[in-house]
Order: sequence, then structure tokens, then C-alpha cells
Amino acid sequence: MPLDLPLTHTYATLPPRFFQQVAPTPVGLPAWLAFNHELAAELGIADAAGVDAEAGLAVFAGNALPPSARPLAMAYAGHQFGHFVPQLGDGRAILLGELVDVHGVRRDLQLKGAGRTAFSRGGDGRAVVGPVLREVIIGEALHALGIPTTRALAAVATGEPVLRDRGPLPGAVLTRVAASHVRVGTFEFFAARGDVEALRRLADYVIDRHYPELASAAPHEAALALLRAVSERQAALLAMWMAVGFVHGVMNTDNMAVSGESIDFGPCAFLDEYAPGKTFSSIDRHGRYAFANQPVIAQWNLARLGECLLPLMIAPGSAIPDEAAAVAAATAELQAFPARFEAQWQARLRARLGLVETRDGDDGLAADLLAAMHAAGADWTLTFRRLAEWVEDGFAAGEAGAVDPVDAFGAGARAPLPMDPVAPADFLAPWLPRWRERLAAEARPPQQVAAATRAVAPAVIPRNHQVEAALRAAEDGELAPFRALLAAVRRPFADDAAQQPFIAAPAPAARVCATFC
Ligand code: AMP
Ligand code: MG
Ligand code: MG
Repeated sequence: MPLDLPLTHTYATLPPRFFQQVAPTPVGLPAWLAFNHELAAELGIADAAGVDAEAGLAVFAGNALPPSARPLAMAYAGHQFGHFVPQLGDGRAILLGELVDVHGVRRDLQLKGAGRTAFSRGGDGRAVVGPVLREVIIGEALHALGIPTTRALAAVATGEPVLRDRGPLPGAVLTRVAASHVRVGTFEFFAARGDVEALRRLADYVIDRHYPELASAAPHEAALALLRAVSERQAALLAMWMAVGFVHGVMNTDNMAVSGESIDFGPCAFLDEYAPGKTFSSIDRHGRYAFANQPVIAQWNLARLGECLLPLMIAPGSAIPDEAAAVAAATAELQAFPARFEAQWQARLRARLGLVETRDGDDGLAADLLAAMHAAGADWTLTFRRLAEWVEDGFAAGEAGAVDPVDAFGAGARAPLPMDPVAPADFLAPWLPRWRERLAAEARPPQQVAAATRAVAPAVIPRNHQVEAALRAAEDGELAPFRALLAAVRRPFADDAAQQPFIAAPAPAARVCATFC
């Protein structure tokens, strides 16, 4: 009995030039790597017979199709490292259909690594165990951190080797759940072909699915409003990423979802030591997608989206009667992005500092903290987490880094945070009095400030050295480290005993500074 899933289809009802109808290519010997029971429940399919057994294994390997599936590969284009490629498309991903989750939200169900499609070009259509499990871990970590993201429902090994630069690697298929897979590059695909009718259909589709509040606007007004709405979500997303030290790795326009979810974070990584110019991706040789450059790139990508939407913004007799007026309106919208991002970013930094009010000088206070962290090579995650301990210790002079294992305010025994292996404990000594003074201006009880900072500053992020170790073990068939890491990153704000092995920053020699997709 094939797995029966209540798949429905909206993307498949768009015109044929939006996709290729193509079925997954079966694999030799599927085996489970991971199944996400929590997400299955959210999708309302936890009780589907065999979803986490034989029937599900066959479907999530691409060896069987649910009767309700209408498999397709989506067409899209994209700017890769700044260079336009008019046709990319799902070269190794196949959309099975959509599920309406228990909250009433329509979610895509897509197999990644399910075989060749018309968009595969030279590729083999496959994915390998390491990057697939990295996507599982990062997606769950981002989700647990409260950041919109695509997530993995299942990961299965194919039992077949895949040839990569490093040699033959074990193959895998990821089942990805997304608010949708429409990318900036999807718009670019039709814009490059001068297909205004398709652009209109796509904009309507995106508004219906992601921005229903715009549906009542006149079509030409909706196009500009769509650019603004996507910009707002990207500004928020980028601030959320950066607050947790996330580096996406390949922010090409085909890897930016118009829904506002994180997607296609292939060679991504979280910062250990803070450096604004940090990159990890082995293919980002010029630092285009470096940590602090991400908002600049988001704006650049949104400019590409704006260009695609120009023809839809023009209506004779309206405020935008011609192309020049459309360019002016879109440009104004794009120029608002840096301030929009900055507002989101400063709000997150203020929360990290336990501040609830906005005052003059707050931006400078945060900037000086970051400068001190950069100069000391301090760990991004541990430094923010430690701020709570400094508050609890009452900023004891000369003991900035000394941590009392017992919570000073009676919240119970707490394991001390591991020390930062790089930064000296007192690297913030000049800055701490300024912060104390600023906190004093709000006069909130220290335990309240400490609790508030702990609630937004994670103790556990997927550290690169831990991720790499887990992936290497998994490639050798040993899944226990992957499972342990996954369990830890699903509780990022907890620092109980079980979390301790995942909190420490790596010693410099143990740092993993390059990631591969
Ligand atoms: P990415 O760099 O993963 O965002 O992929 C960029 C483009 O290359 C997309 O069109 C992918 O579908 C395609 N692609 C990447 N890897 C493969 C592969 N192994 N086989 C076929 N197409 C691929
Ligand atoms: Mg790409
Ligand atoms: Mg991609």
C-alpha cells in the first residue's frame, strides 16, 4: 500500500511553462536517516498509515508516489554570485504537492535529490548524506530559534553512491517542507523572457499564498506593495539570522524565497568568533556573502525582484503611468531597505542587552560591544549568553568573567557557561560600566534583565565543528552523534546538563572554517 497523503495542488494549476511534470527516479536501497514526528503532526499526517515506516520510506526515497501526488520540477532563473543565469530550475528537486497544515497554512512537500529533471543540466539530480543532514540540523535549529525557515520532514539514504569532487559519497533524499518554493529567481525566469502574463500570474499566486492582505489592491498597486512586503520580511529575516550569527553562504537570487523563509542554506554556518567579514562557503571566494554583507546582498536581490515587477506596476492614468515612474517608485522602495533592516537589527541587539526602552546612544552602545568582541575574537553566542551572568553577578568589579555556578538570585543551580577559549574574560571591562549605567536608567530588577537576555540569547547553536563531526560519523553509518546534536539544537535556550557538550566554543585549532554543499 503506497502512503496516502492528502496532497492538493495550486502550483500545478499554473500554466505549463511554470514547470516540468516529472516523477522521481527510484533508488536502490532506501534506509531511514531521520523522520520529523513533530513536523508530521503539524502537517496533520502523523497518523497516515506507515508514514514513518515502509510506506513512508518508499515515498520519501522517491520509490513510490502517493496516489494524490502530481510531481513537478519548478522553472526558475537566478543571479549566481552576481551573474545572471536565465535557466536554473529544480535540477534535483521534485514537488509532490501541497499539504494544508493544522494551522490552515499551505505547505509544499518537495523531494530534494530525487533524480534528474529537464533542469538538471550537467548535474546528476542527486544529493549526498552530509549536506542533507546539514539541512536537517540547520532547519531545525533555525526553527527552534524562532526564525522562519524551510524544514526537513524526512531524510533517507539511497544506498547508492554519488560522485562528487571528494570522491564517491553516500546518496540521500531530503523531504523539504516550505511555505512555498517561489524564489526571486522564479520572477526572473519570466522577466528574462519578457513574459508579462506569467509575471502577473506569479505575482497573483504569491499574493494569494503569502500576502493575502494585498489581494484587494488594484493590480498595479499590488505589484509595488508586494515589493515592499517582501522587503519587510527579508529585513526581519536578515536581522534574525544575524542576531544568532547565521551566515547563509549562497544568497543567490534563486536561494531567496519570496515567502520570507530561510531556504537553500547549503554551505551555511553559524559564527564562532565574531568577525564581520566571516565567510565559510568554499565557493564564496570574494566574500560576497560574508556575515555583515548579507543585508547589502538582500537589498541587491530585492532590486532584481523590483526589476521583474516593473511592468506590473504601470497603469495609464495612475500615479505610475510609465516605466520612468515605475523605476522611481521601485527605487524609493529599495532605498528604504537599509533603514528597515537597521531598525530590526537594532531592536534585536537591544533585546540582547536586556533593554526595553529605546534611547539615544543605544546604537553606539551595541556597536561598541561588537567592536570589542571583534577585537578580542570573542565567541558570538557565548558573549551574549554571558551577559545574563554579568547582570546576576552584579557586575562585580574585576570578576567580569568569573561565573558563580549558583544563580545569585536563587533561580537554582546552573552549570557555569564554558569559558570562551579565545577571548580573555575581561575583554569587555571598559564596556560593562556603560551598559550597567544604561540598564540602571530602566531600573528593572537584575533577575528580570537576566531572564530576558537568556530568553533571546541561545546557549546552543549548531557549532560547525559539532556539525562536521556528526556528518562525518553519519557518512560512516554512525547516526548517534547526529541525533544527539539534533536534539540539542532543538532546545537552543536550555543550558541544563544534557546541553553542556554542545555549548562550548571550539578551540582555535578545532574551528571548522570551510563548508561544502
Ligand atoms: P544551488 O547552488 O544548490 O542553489 O543550485 C543551483 C542550481 O543547480 C539549481 O538549478 C539546482 O537545481 C542545480 N543543481 C545543483 N546540484 C545539482 C545536481 N546534483 N544535479 C542537478 N542539478 C543540480
Ligand atoms: Mg543557487
Ligand atoms: Mg538553490
